[in-house]
Amino acid sequence: MGRDLYKDFHYIQNEKTGVLFHNKSLNYYRVFDENIKKYFKSYFIDHETRFYKEVESILDTVTNEINNSYLDNYFSQESYNGYILEKLVIIVTNNCNCRCKYCYANGGSYGLDVNNMKRDEAKNIIDYFVKNFRVIYNIQIFGGEPMLNYDVIKVICEYFENLRNNNIIDYMPQFGIVTNGTYLPSEAIDIMKKFRFNITISLDGDKIIHDSLRIKKTGEGTFNYIKTNYIKMIESGINKEKISFECTYTHKHIENNISFVDLFKFFRNEFDCLITHITPVCIEKNNFLSLNKDKEIIKKYIKEAVEYTFDTILKERIINSCAIITEVIQRLIRKIPMQYICPAGVNNLTVTQDGTIYPCFMFIGTDLSVGNINISSDEIMSNTKMFNLKFNAKFLDDSCKTCWAKYICSFCLGSFGDIKNKDRSYGAEIMCIMMKEILENVLLKLAELKASEENWQILHKVLFYQDEQNRKTYS
Ligand code: SF4
Ligand code: SF4
Repeated sequence: MGRDLYKDFHYIQNEKTGVLFHNKSLNYYRVFDENIKKYFKSYFIDHETRFYKEVESILDTVTNEINNSYLDNYFSQESYNGYILEKLVIIVTNNCNCRCKYCYANGGSYGLDVNNMKRDEAKNIIDYFVKNFRVIYNIQIFGGEPMLNYDVIKVICEYFENLRNNNIIDYMPQFGIVTNGTYLPSEAIDIMKKFRFNITISLDGDKIIHDSLRIKKTGEGTFNYIKTNYIKMIESGINKEKISFECTYTHKHIENNISFVDLFKFFRNEFDCLITHITPVCIEKNNFLSLNKDKEIIKKYIKEAVEYTFDTILKERIINSCAIITEVIQRLIRKIPMQYICPAGVNNLTVTQDGTIYPCFMFIGTDLSVGNINISSDEIMSNTKMFNLKFNAKFLDDSCKTCWAKYICSFCLGSFGDIKNKDRSYGAEIMCIMMKEILENVLLKLAELKASEENWQILHKVLFYQDEQNRKTYS
């Protein structure tokens, strides 16, 4: 192949559409001319060189028209950490009443002694972060199962409220909680209501699939508990918009022919939830639940899922989808590049009961801690920077450096699996396949949609409306 121009571009085509994606600017161009499509296909897809001169001249023209400095400017302006925390995850307990089949945390304990955070520990932790960080936008309460220590959740919220009332902090953070939904004391409902929590419940689909994966210590399925508690929350006056669901997608779903679209429809019909978080399971490749053997069917499900997402936008004027797809649409439309694989450690940190700090809860119990609340924030920042350069920065990773999706992909580094040994078969490989498939299908759809001013306007209206709603709900 001629010069290295092909590295900056990616070409995709289906029966109807051809799209040239310039990865550095996040610009994409629909190709109508059948000859040009033929050139691009031979060059990018079949790796033939027959049309290389023609292709090179087109790519040269496109490159000259684009201001390449866009990304350089973007990244140089990005304040690295900047002592602003987008999200602080507080582990209030590593105790759990469940034993999910794929638990990433060894039954919630992360392989450590089981402990509930104490009131004083919670206050010391908050003091440390408030003193050392200019702003903390979000506090995420996490476990184990955090509801098992709801007393301390209350202490945390009231302590922040007190700091705000005394003008020690300028803003109240937005509180959130991730729960397995099986245990819900009424006092916990009162706290979540009063402090307007965003509540994420882990639920893997209908009763049959969910109960085969997410079980209590006794082995009993948990679907009915979750459903009952969900109704209890709604009846207590918690706005259903404040409740979302996280579904861990496994080989068991594939075995039961449950596609992504089936899940979108299930959460919409059963819980009125339009956008679900769907995360591929992160587990050793030899485990029965691993998706490593399901790459082709996953690609098919993603194609369907993107198709369905755009269909609901255009026909129903709503988005019924999953977060990973809607975020890609938003990033491509708004041209938001991603330098790191994940926000873990970039602007998110996790703190455990004893004040140990990690880039993400997925690394608790490993030696990937970035310090604790007894050391200076400068030291934490410097350790975090090292973590990011080693594990999170795409421009330094061997597989990412040559990947066409490197300026736009983003997902959970924790579900990448064994990042320490750079073992991609654990979770990363399937995440990358999914991300690239989503990107390709979304790019094709966006390019098609742009050809109709009316459809393009509808897409914008629906996206902005959804954003507006989220702002209202979450502020
Ligand atoms: S609820 Fe969460 S922490 Fe508890 S066993 Fe299930 S996945 Fe693990
Ligand atoms: S899709 Fe995977 S390989 Fe490609 S840049 Fe993103 S993380 Fe790296």
